[in-house]
Formats: sequence, C-alpha cells, structure tokens
Amino acid sequence: MGLLVVGSLGLDTVATPFDKIENALGGSATYISLAASYFSGPIRLVGIVGSDFPKEYIEMMNNHNIDLEGLQIVEGGKTFRWSGKYHYDLNVRDTLFTELNVFENFDPVIPETARKSKFICLGNIDPVLQSRVLDQMENPQFVVCDTMNYWIEGKKKELLELLPRVNVLIINDSEARLLAHEPNLIKAAKIIRNMGPEILIIKKGEHGALLFAEETIFSAPAFPLESIFDPTGAGDSFAGGFIGYLFKTRDLSSESLKRAVIYGSTMASFCVEKFSTKGLEELSYLQIQDRFRQFMNLSRFDEE
Ligand code: AMP
Repeated sequence: MGLLVVGSLGLDTVATPFDKIENALGGSATYISLAASYFSGPIRLVGIVGSDFPKEYIEMMNNHNIDLEGLQIVEGGKTFRWSGKYHYDLNVRDTLFTELNVFENFDPVIPETARKSKFICLGNIDPVLQSRVLDQMENPQFVVCDTMNYWIEGKKKELLELLPRVNVLIINDSEARLLAHEPNLIKAAKIIRNMGPEILIIKKGEHGALLFAEETIFSAPAFPLESIFDPTGAGDSFAGGFIGYLFKTRDLSSESLKRAVIYGSTMASFCVEKFSTKGLEELSYLQIQDRFRQFMNLSRFDEE
C-alpha cells in the first residue's frame, strides 16, 4: 500500500549569507519523500509540476523508490516557485516570493493503489487541498500534517477544519505561537492539541524539537553541526524521517514516537549540510543509524 506523501514540488531560489542557488529542487513533498525513502517503501507521492520541471529530478526520485503515479505534469504549465533569504542567524528567514503557478488549480487525485494507504503525510500545502486528500482515503490510520505561517494567516478557518482529522501536527515554534495566540509554548501546545491533533511536534530550529503525546513531553536536541549550508527543507526532512520510521515499524507507542522524533532530527541534520536536496540524495541506512546513535549520546547522563 505504501506511505502516501502529498505536498509541493518546486524550484527554489535560496540565499544564505554564504551562497546562493537558483531554481534548485525543493518542495515539501520532495524533502519528505526523500527522507522517508531510507526507511521503507514504496513512497507514493502526489503533487503537481509544470512541463518545465527537469526530468533528472524525476529520475532521481524514481531511483529512491518514490512512486510518481500520482504526480500530475501540466503541459505548458509552470512549476511552483519559492524564494527565501536566510539571515546571519540561520534560524531566521524571509520569504522573498511564493509563486503558486500550477498549484493554483491543483486538484489532488489519489491513485487507486494509494487510497488504501494507512500512513499519510500531508506536506505543507493549502489546508483545503490537504482536506481533499483525506476525503479520498479509505481508512487512514495515522495522518501527519505540516503547515506554515502562510496558511495559518491566510486560511485559518480551513486549517481549523482540517486539524480534527489529523493525528500529528508538526509546526515550528513561531507558527505554534501564531496558531494558538499564546507566547508560552507549553500553553500553546495545550491549545493546539485541543484543536484536534492528539500528538504535536514543535520544531525549534537549531534548538531541537518538542514532542507532546498523551502526558509525555519529550525534548530532542538538534544535532550540533559545524557547517550548515542551507536550512531549507529541514522541517520537511524531519517530517519524512519521523513518519518513515513509524511506517517501517508500525509501532505507535510513545517510546517509538520518541525514536521517530530522533530519526526526524537525524534526517533534518543531513538535509542542512548541503544545498537543496543534495544532503538527502546519497545516504545509506548505516550512516543514518550511526547519527541516530550519536544523538543518543548527546543528552545521556548519569544520576551521579
Ligand atoms: P521548510 O524549510 O521545511 O519549511 O520547507 C521549505 C520548502 O517548502 C521549500 O522547498 C519550498 O519550496 C516549500 N514551500 C515554501 N512555501 C510553501 C507554500 N506556501 N506551500 C507549499 N510549499 C512551500
């Protein structure tokens, strides 16, 4: 049945204080699928691009066991484009432009083979489209959803209608504050979980992530990297590693959720080491496990 991933595929123009890259492969579904592909397959990607989308990107995704039956390619259409500029503090970024292009008329159609998928990752796209995906699913078991300030500000009502239908919401700290209208993250988490998702993950960039599940609060560090080239896609790679691990093990216990958060952080750390998706293209499961173990040592300590 596979893991269903729906989201954007795009061409990103990104500037950091160190470098700039134009029209590089990006998009929420792209990063999620690549990160998840190292755990189990097949990944069934549903999204849309224009005919200007480079063929080599399609080939690269196929080589990662990403099934593109659900990818709509619009003849003569223009692919989604996004541009961001990072500050000297790489946790802070400005969106320079968002061109929805083919996304403006996107109607996600889930292929017959994917409608029975039990594990679903709704990458960051319009919450109306995220709901339309769920409408087509037969009996979803575990729905992970990502969103961003663009939608919290622009489509709040639609987002609030979607949230009771998802099991896990993944957002960053500023988005959590915006969504909950509450500066304190612990209080914000309570408010957001009351909106629907029983599990909430709040990402805090280079300061790690917080998992809220049942009565548990679990704090995961970010991997201390000396060189971060491009933080774009870190959040999506996190989501991909998180759901990829859970899809592989089918274990949704709170201990497994904690491990999934660490696998998410692991994939995010590989992502930011190179520009665009390059950091996720040539990994081995051994490398991933090795970094997962290094994470364990990061915050392990003895009582005395
Ligand atoms: P992240 O750094 O994890 O927030 O994800 C960045 C990716 O999200 C980029 O590759 C963009 O192409 C994509 N993206 C940015 N804005 C949007 C949007 N409004 N809708 C869908 N995808 C977006």
